[in-house]
Order: sequence, then C-alpha cells, then structure tokens
Amino acid sequence: MVSLTCYGGVNEIGGNKILLEDGKCRLLFDFGMSFKTAFKYFDEFMQPRPLNGLGDWFELGLLPQVKGIYRQDYRGQMGLAEEPLDCQGVFLSHAHADHASYVHHLRPDLPIYGTPATLKIMESVQETAANTPLELTVFKKNFEFVPNKKGDGVRRIKGEERETPRVLRQLKGKVEVGDFEVEPVPVNHSLHGASGFIVDTPAGKVAYTGDLRFHGYGGHLTENFVKRAKGAKWLIMEGTRIDSEGTMKEEEVCSQITDMVGDCKKIVLVNWPLRDTDRLWSVYNAAKKNDRKLVISTKQAYLLDKLAEIGADVPSTNDERIRIFLTRKSWGLLGREGIPPELLAGDYKGWELQYLEHKNVVTYKDLQGSPSEYVLRCDFFDMTELIDIRPPEGSRYIHSVVEPFSDEMFIDREKVDNWLKHFGLYPGITTHCSGHAPGPDLRRIAKEIAPEHLIPVHTEHPEMFKGLAENVAFPEVGKKMVL
Ligand SMILES: [Zn+2]
Ligand SMILES: [Zn+2]
Repeated sequence: MVSLTCYGGVNEIGGNKILLEDGKCRLLFDFGMSFKTAFKYFDEFMQPRPLNGLGDWFELGLLPQVKGIYRQDYRGQMGLAEEPLDCQGVFLSHAHADHASYVHHLRPDLPIYGTPATLKIMESVQETAANTPLELTVFKKNFEFVPNKKGDGVRRIKGEERETPRVLRQLKGKVEVGDFEVEPVPVNHSLHGASGFIVDTPAGKVAYTGDLRFHGYGGHLTENFVKRAKGAKWLIMEGTRIDSEGTMKEEEVCSQITDMVGDCKKIVLVNWPLRDTDRLWSVYNAAKKNDRKLVISTKQAYLLDKLAEIGADVPSTNDERIRIFLTRKSWGLLGREGIPPELLAGDYKGWELQYLEHKNVVTYKDLQGSPSEYVLRCDFFDMTELIDIRPPEGSRYIHSVVEPFSDEMFIDREKVDNWLKHFGLYPGITTHCSGHAPGPDLRRIAKEIAPEHLIPVHTEHPEMFKGLAENVAFPEVGKKMVL
C-alpha cells in the first residue's frame, strides 16, 4: 500500500514536509520551516530551547513526530533511546528555508538528495551564516561528554570532533530507491537548482511541483516539467498565488530597473533577495546597459563562487562588470593607514578572507568617490554601511523584493524607511515579481497535467483548487492518504 502524508504546507505557504511510503521504503519530499507556525510562538530573539532537544519543537507542532528520522543527540536530551534509521532519503525541491531548513534536525546518516545547485546553496548558507548556523550539510554533534586526553574525567565535545558531513546525494537524473523511482525535473522559481519531482510508485505516477513559475530566465523549464508530468495519477501542486491574477514578469522587472538606473545621476542602491539569481541577472543587465558596475556583498560573492564550481549560469566574481563590496568589520581596520594584511585579516571570518585580495574588491571610499559608476545591492542588514558611504543627493533606492504582508515584515519595512528618510532616499521605488505562478498559470498546469487526484499544498486557499481535477484531495496535517 502506497501512502502519502503531509506534515506541513497544509493551509499555509511553505513548511512542506511530505512523506511517501509503501511499507518497505519511506521517502520525504522537502523538510522546511513553517514560518507562520514558528512566528506564532517565537521571534528572532526568542527561539525553541536547544537544551530540550526536539521537545519544544514537538510541543508546538513545529516538527512532526516521525520515527527514524531525527538526530540522536537531540532525542537523547528528551530521554529517548537510539532508534534505527527508518527513511531512505529526503528529496529537496529547492534551497529555500520553507523547504529545506529543518534538515538541521535530521540524523546525519539520512541521505539528502538535491540538485547540485541546491546542495551548493545549502553549503553556502551554512558556511556564511552570521550567528549559529543551521547544520544543513555538516552535522555537529551536541550534548556529549568525551574523555579528557590528559588524566581522568570527561569534558564537553567541542570543535571539529563534533562534525560529521551529512550524506549528500547530487541529483543529476532518475534514482531508484526501494520501490520508487524518483526523477528530478528542473523548474524555474527565481533561485538556482529548483526542481519538481516525478515519482514512479507501485500505485502509479506521482508528480510534485515544488515551487514554480513560467517566466524568468529558465521559464521554459517549467513548461517542460508540465509536459513530463502529464498523465500523473496524483499531482501535489503548490498554490501560493492561486488567488492572484498578477502577470508581472522578470523580464519587465529588468527593463524597469534599467530605466530607473538610467534616470539616476548618483549611486543606485537595490534590495533583492540574496539567493534570487534571476533577479541578480536582471540587476546585472540593468547595470551593464547603463555602463555601471554591479557591487555585491562578500556573502553573495561566496554564493556565486560556489555555484560556479558546478558550472551554473551565474555572473563570475571575476567579471569586469562585478565588484565585491568589502565592508569594515570587527575592529574596523579596513582603510586605515599602515595596517599590515595579517592584522586586517583578523577582522574577517575564514570564508571571507579570500576576498581581501580579490581584484574586484571595492570599499566605501570607492563608492563615495564615484557614486555614479555603481549599482549596489543593499538590504536591511546593509543599512549601517550607508553611514560610511554617505549616498549624495540624487541617489536612489530600489525595493526589488516582495511587499510586506506580515506584522514582522511591516516592522522591518518601517525600519528600512527610517534609514531611507535619514539619508534622503525615502520612499524609494518598487519593482518586483513573484517566484510563484499566479492563478491562471496554476489552472493551466492542472488542466494540462490532468491528474486523477490533485493535492493542493503550499497555499492558504486550497478551496480554490476545487474543480481543477477529477478529484481534489485536501490534505490534513499528519493524516495518511492512501494512493
Ligand atoms: Zn516555498
Ligand atoms: Zn521557494
């Protein structure tokens, strides 16, 4: 008997955790964070207690109680004995937090399947995290006492002895796991490496869209996914924007940014999602058409270098059009006279050091000196840099991100606005399009794939899927659906 259970992404946008099993084999599709549930109880500074292992997470329904998938160091904190691995793999559709970030809680021997780009993005997220990194690609054991090297007694486990690389499996084509054959089929969804899945099961073909849209620089990929998924018996489909008719496309965003940059005589500051490589191309092309350099952060440069390792189509950090913004950190020694490189290096973390001597580096002094030559990526966390840069009158700020829709987002936006007012950049200009297909596209997908059963996930409006297939099955959290 093949069955499917949704442990997240039910009546909410994101948090997808879908278990497919047949008695012999159990596979997870995505294991992401539910922002809505998490923010119901917690915020940035008030988080579940690590000391309670998975306990706080289970208590509030942030993680499902599924056997054989979780890390034993956390289970041990709850007094739970070791258990055997009981899942043959988690297949990630893409590297967004609402699909991938709860991998942190999984045991290190549970294989993680993702496209090469998805795994590279996760590696870069873990390595460049500002605070406590999520253990997405390298597991770090906690809560264990180990014998002291000298003398008697024990001490807490620390440093590299905590580390075990997770079992990462690059998805480059079909894989057979148990009775299932899983094929990743690339789709466009704004960041690199996104894919849907087509799974051959003993109960027929199951297709899972992940998150997708039809425009952007890989829009044709999504068309191909729809073709390939035709005739699926079961279709698990995202519905983020089922209630929206919006048709703004990435190509239009690019042309708007190009015009906005053309109208500006001084520095142009643009905020766009850090890992949205389609938007990066749009801003890159806008800078190019206006003969400006595009200045990115070291974090973004690191991501591009990681993606370049697998031959992804992203601008090179050595590109003549790209500049890397080296900011003052820690003791603020950058730009100070007579500081030898080895002392300057002390201001930066390991992953960042490679950029100190990079040929494309710029500092606030360069941006101050010739503001009209640059387009700079600048999000909320970069706002303090404006104190060093001092954007002159005639500079411009572009919001190329989703408009706020939750309380937390409105609060953050107000802070951004205060910074913009302080520097005479308020209110800025907005141009953005979504990484998710709108209602008309979603209805077309359902019609073309024509599944026997349609399961809407990743949506606050599952009821709007009624009538889009012969049968529409509304998932309930933790309730098995027999295929
Ligand atoms: Zn999502
Ligand atoms: Zn996504």
